[in-house]
This record gives sequence, C-alpha cells and structure tokens, in this order.
Amino acid sequence: MKRYDFIIAGGGMAGLSLAYYLTQSTLRDRSILILDKEFKNKNDRTWCFWERGEGTFEPIIFRKWPAVDFFGTVFSGSLNIGNYQYKMLRGIDFYEFVRNQLAKHPNIEFKQATINRVKDTPQGGFVIADDEPYMADFVFDSTFQLKLDIPEQHNLLQHFKGWVINAQNPCFDVKKPIMMDFRVEQQGDCRFIYVLPFDEKTALVEYTVFNEAVLTDYEYEVPLRNYIDRFLETGGYQICETEFGVIPMSDEPTQENPSEHVVRIGTAGGFTKPSTGYTFQRTQRYLAEIVKNLAATGSPKRRTSWFNRRFGLYDSILLNVLHKRRYPADDFFTLLYKRNHPAKVFEFLDEDTNFMEELKIMSSVPLGAFTKALFDVLKRRLL
Ligand SMILES: Cc1cc2nc3c(=O)[nH]c(=O)nc-3n(C[C@H](O)[C@H](O)[C@H](O)COP(=O)(O)OP(=O)(O)OC[C@H]3O[C@@H](n4cnc5c(N)ncnc54)[C@H](O)[C@@H]3O)c2cc1C
Repeated sequence: MKRYDFIIAGGGMAGLSLAYYLTQSTLRDRSILILDKEFKNKNDRTWCFWERGEGTFEPIIFRKWPAVDFFGTVFSGSLNIGNYQYKMLRGIDFYEFVRNQLAKHPNIEFKQATINRVKDTPQGGFVIADDEPYMADFVFDSTFQLKLDIPEQHNLLQHFKGWVINAQNPCFDVKKPIMMDFRVEQQGDCRFIYVLPFDEKTALVEYTVFNEAVLTDYEYEVPLRNYIDRFLETGGYQICETEFGVIPMSDEPTQENPSEHVVRIGTAGGFTKPSTGYTFQRTQRYLAEIVKNLAATGSPKRRTSWFNRRFGLYDSILLNVLHKRRYPADDFFTLLYKRNHPAKVFEFLDEDTNFMEELKIMSSVPLGAFTKALFDVLKRRLL
C-alpha cells in the first residue's frame, strides 16, 4: 500500500486550495495525493466574495467591482464598500490555475477515483478509493457529507438558480453589480436576486432563497423570468449557462478534527459562514491557518479562542430570526445596510470587528425580534 505524507480527499475548492497553500509553504516537498471522482474541467460554479487588496487568486479573478447596488424595502442605492472589492472567480479558471501550479511539483499526484472510505488508524489516515487502499500521515477530507438534521439546531438552506444571459440590448452597467435585490415576492422567506454583469450584454442573474427546502425548477424560473422582464431592458435574451446550488446555513456543530489523522475541510469541515452561506474566503483563511500550524508544529489543528466563539452566537441568532420568521428578512437586510457603513457590515461578517463595533451593529437591527431570538438560542444551548 502506498503511503503519502498527505492525502487530499476531494480536489474541489478546498482540496485544491489546500494543495496550493502547501506548495507555498515549507511543506512543498512533501508527498501529496489528491483524489477526486471528477476531473474538474467544467465551469461548475462561480464564487463571489468581498476582499480588501489582492488575494491569493488575484491573477484569475474574472471580474471585480469597487461598489455594489442594493435594492431593499425602504432603502435602495449604491453601497459604499470602502476599500473592499466584490470579486468573482469562475470555477474553471480556479481549477485550471491550481492544476497548472501543482503540475510543477512532481511530489504531487492526482488520481481520478471515487472515495469509498476515509478512516483513522493508529498508523495514520486510511483511504479506500476505487478499491485501492492508501495511507498518509494526515487525510484532509472535503468529501464527507454533513447530515445537519438535529431538530434543536437551526438548519436552513441557501439555494439558488441562476442564468448567464446574453441580452440583445447593452442593458448592464459593468461597474454596478447588484448584490441583493429584494424586489421579488418573499413568500415568508428571504428571497432576492443578484445580477453580476460580465459586460454590457452579459450577466449572471441568480434567484436565491434562504429557507428549509429546495424548490422545483419552475419555482426558480418563474421569478427569474419575471425579474428579467420587469427590471432588465434586455430586448430579448438567450440563456448561455445555468447554475444551481445548495449551501447549508446551519449552526449544528461539525467536526473539523474528527480523529487524530483526519481533518475535514471546506463545506465538510463546517467552513461555511452559517448566517450567509459564504464559504470561499473563510475556507482560504482557515486553510492558511492549517498549513501554518502544520508547518510550524506538525499538527494541523486550528484553535478558536473562547471570545471569538461569540460570532457563532451571532450566527445562531440571525438563523433563529430567519427560521422562526421573527422579522421580515427583506426589512432586516435593508435596515442593516441603511443604518451601518456597508464596509463595516462586511468586516463584521468576516469576524474582523471588535466587540464595541458589534454592539453598534446589533443596536441597528430590530431589537424585539433579535432579543427573542437570543433567548431562544440560549435556551436551546442550555437544554
Ligand atoms: C453552484 C455553487 C455556487 C457557489 N457560490 C459561492 C459563492 O459565490 N461564494 C461562496 O463563498 N461560496 C459559494 N458556494 C459555496 C462553496 O464555496 C462551494 O460549494 C465550494 O465549492 C465548497 O468547496 P469544497 O471543497 O468544500 O467542496 P467542492 O468544491 O464541492 O469539492 C468537493 C470535491 O470532492 C469531490 N468528491 C465528493 N465526493 C467524492 C467521492 N466520494 N470520491 C471522490 N471525490 C469526491 C467532488 O467531485 C468535489 O470536487 C457555492 C456553491 C455552489 C454549489
């Protein structure tokens, strides 16, 4: 049985990012096996996120914008996001870029195979893929399927369907993506559209819902079509690509380190921000920490200070408000962006704010609904 220093189970966003960070560290000569059932040669998703300055994947950023538009209930306008930029990275560009970088390292091996089992043993992490056994000092697993079904926790889904459309008329302002447009029926949930322009005639238009269950194709497509007809002066359009996705929005505890030689990463490791569904940037941040620890101490374990766990409490409170429908989501997001500097909101969601700044943001939201949610969350945690 072949033994490696590290096995990366799943070469998607988290797995490839981890491999890339390893090549940028003192661990660059370690033997690494990357296993994935797919070759990853399709543009299967696009990642959007906000970022200050230039990030690791700057050379392949597909589009970036210095401001974003917002359409709420009692406030609409361009959000000043300070020195953040809203960025878009296409999956295919990411996969190709990282694969090309990794190809320079003969110690990194790729295998297209379906993983049947990931297991810890006293000798190391153990993987079976297409009936072949492999061992490593550490297995980094992004293939583990989270269950997220404990009724006492908040288990919402962020699900969305989007079209890249090609319009007859030059109807998109390339400087102005729409991050959230609530001018769609809420139906008791949180539902919005975003519009990310590639050029004057091409944009990704996506219908997003936060609730408990995915919809039928028809239920995504009707509001998408209505929105395009009502608000975008396309003069007719063609659908060039379709994107569909489901992201967990959950505060159910997940295990990043289920055992000594297995580390879960990406969605499988619970790296998704529960209250927003954003996963890309958080994964980059956590993986950078993992590689730093591994290089410095030989252990990939990350530590979160007790005080920093407060962000998990804020996530649970917002999930509780959404889940219990304590306050209309479109009104809440409108107040959030109207009463706070949008750049500060981004900083808060990135968990980079201090406690005083957080109190200020929290005092800007509907206190009754959020206080009830706080008590409900505390009760659930205590019980
Ligand atoms: C359509 C879509 C759009 C998204 N957009 C955003 C966004 O804009 N911003 C953001 O922050 N987040 C976004 N997300 C959420 C998140 O960033 C992505 O899901 C991201 O790809 C998660 O990375 P990952 O490595 O955990 O999972 P993946 O990227 O899905 O990687 C897992 C890999 O494991 C492989 N695999 C799974 N099971 C097996 C098996 N048994 N054997 C072998 N290989 C296996 C898969 O083929 C895959 O390559 C989006 C998600 C989706 C689905």
